[in-house]
Amino acid sequence: MNLESTTRTHLPFGDKHDSPFYGRDIVSVRQFDEDDLDYIFEVAHEMQAMVARVGTFDLLKGKLLANLFYEPSTRTSSSFTAAMERLGGSVIPINEVRYSSVSKGESLPDTVRTLERYADVIVLRHPDVGASAEAARYASKPIINAGDGVGEHPTQALLDLFTIQEELDAVNGLTVTMVGDLKYGRTVHSLSRLLSKFDVALNLVSPEILRMPAEILEELAESGTPFSEHDALDPVIPATDVLYVTRVQKERFEKEAAYEAVKDAFVVTPATLEAAKKLMIVMHPLPRVNEISMEVDADPRAAYFRQMEYGMYVRMALLAMVLGKA
Ligand code: ASP
Repeated sequence: MNLESTTRTHLPFGDKHDSPFYGRDIVSVRQFDEDDLDYIFEVAHEMQAMVARVGTFDLLKGKLLANLFYEPSTRTSSSFTAAMERLGGSVIPINEVRYSSVSKGESLPDTVRTLERYADVIVLRHPDVGASAEAARYASKPIINAGDGVGEHPTQALLDLFTIQEELDAVNGLTVTMVGDLKYGRTVHSLSRLLSKFDVALNLVSPEILRMPAEILEELAESGTPFSEHDALDPVIPATDVLYVTRVQKERFEKEAAYEAVKDAFVVTPATLEAAKKLMIVMHPLPRVNEISMEVDADPRAAYFRQMEYGMYVRMALLAMVLGKA
């Protein structure tokens, strides 16, 4: 079904090659200002409404996305696929670089220069910090960073912020508690940078060896964002509006014993939430291992499954925007 006529009358869709997002890479949350965020979220709302109304539509018909994943992924890769297909586009999935020419020794610049000959946009996940920025230097088509090692995960942070806004109606004035692996967790790196553009207070709760990197603490201080570091969760729960739980990133540890020592340092259970506000949310970028017990899932404050769905609308918005259709 072609709904272009419907979309034209109701939505800010159509060829928007003069849009500031057209042809742009999405490498770091640092590149967005508050107007950009408002715009992305406005388009994400339109996407949500369209999906509710018609499911799939033809905005990106004829466009191709290359999903290039050098690290495992369930949600990011499948939500980009779902986003592209709901917009009528198609996907070249390269989830197992082992079976691609990467295993023959092909470099990242050559791989992206190949894929951009076939596709209109490349979504890249790679174990090295800065890999997306490097790919973007070589590619002339947009590169979207889907996680660069322990660096950033900008589209996750955008969907996290969208989730907060949708669930709590505002971002300013909130107290956000991040707990778990703040050292290696790229989602909390991107999210704290993004939140530092707002009037929020951050509690950073982690084992000593998994503290938030100094570079990010400096950025928070420079932006005037109040933050405090903690090694216990319970004392900060009562004032928390958003509890953002992260997985201890096993794959980043050199020694298994070091991982074992901290892997269950923080586990959120129904008892943890007894002291929490009635109106607050628990988020997690997922996958979860043990850090939120399954009994929490039934609590209406558990927002992590809703969070994933918001992600598809945000990724639909980003794809439409960088391809000049929103
Ligand atoms: N899925 C998220 C990421 O790729 C979080 C995680 O793996 O723990 O960073």
